[in-house]
Amino acid sequence: MKPAIKKIEFNEILMFMLLVFLFPACQNKSTSNKGDNAVIENKWTPLRTIDEDGLMGERADAWRNNRLWYIAESGYLIDGFENRPGEHPWQGEHLGKWLHAASMAYQVTRDEKLKTQMESLVERLLAVQEPNGYLGTYADESTFMAIPEVIDPRDLADDTYTEKEQEAAREVWRRAGGWDTWTFRYNIYGLLIYEKYFPDERIVEACRKMADLLIETYGEGKHDLTKYGTRRGISATTLLESIVMLYERTGEKKYLDFAEHIVKMSETNPKHRLMDAMLKEESVVYPGEGKGYQLMANLLGYLRLYRATGNDKYLQTAINGREEIIDKHVLVTGGPWTRKMSYNGNSECFAHTQDFNPEISHVEGCCTVTWMQLNIHLFELTGQAKFSKEAELTLLNDLYGHQHSGGIDWCYYLTPNDPTPPFENKFTCCASSGPRGLEMFSGHLAGIVDNNLSINSLAPASIDLTKQFGGGVLKIESNFPYGSSAEIVFKIDRTKEYTVEFRLPVGTFLNHVKINGEMSEAVGNSRGFFELTRKWEKGDVLSIEMDYKLELHVQDGEGSQQWIAFTYGPVALAQEIAELPGEEPFNGLNLSLDEPEKILSMLIKSNSTDSQIIFTIKDSGINLIPFYMAGATRESGPRTYFKYSK
Ligand SMILES: [Zn+2]
Repeated sequence: MKPAIKKIEFNEILMFMLLVFLFPACQNKSTSNKGDNAVIENKWTPLRTIDEDGLMGERADAWRNNRLWYIAESGYLIDGFENRPGEHPWQGEHLGKWLHAASMAYQVTRDEKLKTQMESLVERLLAVQEPNGYLGTYADESTFMAIPEVIDPRDLADDTYTEKEQEAAREVWRRAGGWDTWTFRYNIYGLLIYEKYFPDERIVEACRKMADLLIETYGEGKHDLTKYGTRRGISATTLLESIVMLYERTGEKKYLDFAEHIVKMSETNPKHRLMDAMLKEESVVYPGEGKGYQLMANLLGYLRLYRATGNDKYLQTAINGREEIIDKHVLVTGGPWTRKMSYNGNSECFAHTQDFNPEISHVEGCCTVTWMQLNIHLFELTGQAKFSKEAELTLLNDLYGHQHSGGIDWCYYLTPNDPTPPFENKFTCCASSGPRGLEMFSGHLAGIVDNNLSINSLAPASIDLTKQFGGGVLKIESNFPYGSSAEIVFKIDRTKEYTVEFRLPVGTFLNHVKINGEMSEAVGNSRGFFELTRKWEKGDVLSIEMDYKLELHVQDGEGSQQWIAFTYGPVALAQEIAELPGEEPFNGLNLSLDEPEKILSMLIKSNSTDSQIIFTIKDSGINLIPFYMAGATRESGPRTYFKYSK
């Protein structure tokens, strides 16, 4: 038997060496790093943005100066907690979402009034936590502890339940509301993000108590979390990410165990089983009825669970899910589209490509932001440009399309061809998600990766530089996304040698770079950035000139109809319409799809000061402008996709 034992030992050593080779971060447990007990460290970490200008600055300010206060001062964020029951089943989500976005806004603005407002809301929230840990907006008789499993009446309809049993289930469903654990998902998330910037053990304790109450109800041998709430449990299991965040913060194994138990419950439910479906590279249309927002929020949980455990199958779940979504469910605007079909749950659920119709398919604002989050977190983990390119594309087109430039109103749904985008000032899930997308991107404009200074957007901004880069400020000057050049000014305190890398936006290529007016060379690296190494001195200017590609995209859709859409660099183009037009400019034409410049001609090319991009479809009188601008007047909306039939 001896040789056999030896063989196992040898294999184990080999496996260990392989693991160390594949996951060098495994050797480097950062237990001393407060608030991050992750086994796998992020590769890319952000530097602080201290100012933003241009379009990105306008849109961030529109939220920070308007809707941020409109919500904060309304009372709606806290009323439901202080005077239970709240008015709306998911009223409790808004405070956590607001805290997330506001905490990140504060990192840029350092606005003392905002700090005071956040403190006050956090104090009021902590003050109403029940001794048992409950911190929600439901009446005692409807909390998740009182009704831990609420079976969706549609599940009963599939089986052989009597009409009486089904009616009883419908009654419980109506009474329970089914979104109480969802409030916990956003409470823990928002509080822990806030606490990261304003450390306070009382906040961590409040989160522990919430999580302990969840464990008491849904832990090993208790109730099934996937039998609570909508869409076969996929709404409830979004808790995964928040629970892993609590584990990261506390290092307490019971939270990691509970996170893995949530995975087990998800996988045991045949209508959920998201991880198994993603690992088998199946469609995203079926797990949890394909509910886009929640499905992606579950993927965020898997990604974080990978960081906490180093278990590769969790990472693969997130990556395969992302690949499936980008291949089949994302518009040229970067928005993940959904549509109600017989095989899915409702109009916020992923549908198959052959059911695409740009007048009916739409993008839920929460889908937009969760898609950005998934890409941003994958970017942090890997430093790969492709992830932040996608997040930037979604920001510039779909997210700005959802946000009205006036600063208060948002669209819940944005339809690619719709003359009347439904902007509204209401408290909706989407209007509370939107600012989180703006702020997350604003917080990732530049960072550190492999000891490089990594410039992750050419949007005009100022970045606070750490000592390793000579201190001082990095100033990015550009008219992005209109202009195709950028100047990066090193307002550093001390001369330092290091590598600077920069990322081009999607749909562009590098023309040339100059340093202090002299032609220079930037080399592409394995993560999709361009890099230059030199001794950087105070006042150095790195100039980047890129070219925007005009691209034509073909999209298959309902009834074998093909549609075409156009992008110019990272900007999706659309016609501004006041009603859905009857005529189709491309029907019956045999277009040369590889040569969009034969189909469109540019009317106005923006430069370093103009903020306009206008193309015209030749011989049609139809002009195309940036997608997000097409709905800006409230009297019009975008027409992004055009029918194409030869
Ligand atoms: Zn929403």
